[in-house]
Amino acid sequence: MEKNINYNEKRKISFFSILVNLTLSVIKMVGGYISGSAALTADGVHSLSDLAASVSVYIGITISGKKSQSFPFGLYKVENLVALISSFAIFFAGYEIAKDVFFGETMIIKNLPVAVAVIGLTVIITFLYSRYEKKKGEELNSPSLLADAEHIKVDFYTALVVLVGIVANYFGFPIGEKIAVLVVVVFIFHSGFEILKEAVKVLLDASIDNDTVQSIKEILDKEELVEEVKLITGRNSGSFKFVQLNLALKVETLDEAHELSHKIEKKIKDKIPFVEKVVIHYE
Ligand SMILES: [Zn+2]
Repeated sequence: MEKNINYNEKRKISFFSILVNLTLSVIKMVGGYISGSAALTADGVHSLSDLAASVSVYIGITISGKKSQSFPFGLYKVENLVALISSFAIFFAGYEIAKDVFFGETMIIKNLPVAVAVIGLTVIITFLYSRYEKKKGEELNSPSLLADAEHIKVDFYTALVVLVGIVANYFGFPIGEKIAVLVVVVFIFHSGFEILKEAVKVLLDASIDNDTVQSIKEILDKEELVEEVKLITGRNSGSFKFVQLNLALKVETLDEAHELSHKIEKKIKDKIPFVEKVVIHYE
């Protein structure tokens, strides 16, 4: 029951993240167009890449709630395929922005109030949302929400860099805005690279990450009936982790072993986000 509440809550918050990133990309790109600011337009593209990432997380969470008999293993990876394609789109956008700013004509700020208003809104939205998401992440003990909250906080600081750049350009120092664009392009490539790395790892069935293995080990070490942990492994699919354990158990009957492995599976799923299944072999 508690797991369902957490599931719905996470799904709700990941939907909020989509709305926030959608709002940010639209107001920044429209504001960038009206004001003539390259830095603001670039930051809009950056928000668009964040939007791609939050949509793929939302799809992943939603798919986990819907089982399909026809695709017991396959469906999750649609999400990674979408992520892979969007990472190339993000790199391309980053390249286009960098090219325009460094080799194109210098852009003139036509409308400073619009640019300042959009950045003001961005600063308010990112400040409030990162605080809200951090609080929820702590409540739900969710590393993915906490990481997203940190990311939004970075977006908050990025907006301030963009503001300085625009004001500098407006007062006759276009180099200031070029530097701001450079900062944003670094963030765009960074998001693109993170998305690409995750997608490729998952598509190639890389093992689950070390942090997850370590947290599982900590959970198992506290179990008195686990005599020895022989192997912790698994793979990712979509946003989800499929864990496989080889354990030596201090139990007499098969029933006891069965019951214990259910208990262990539940503990792991409660503690570690996005674990879809735990298969336990015991001896
Ligand atoms: Zn971002």
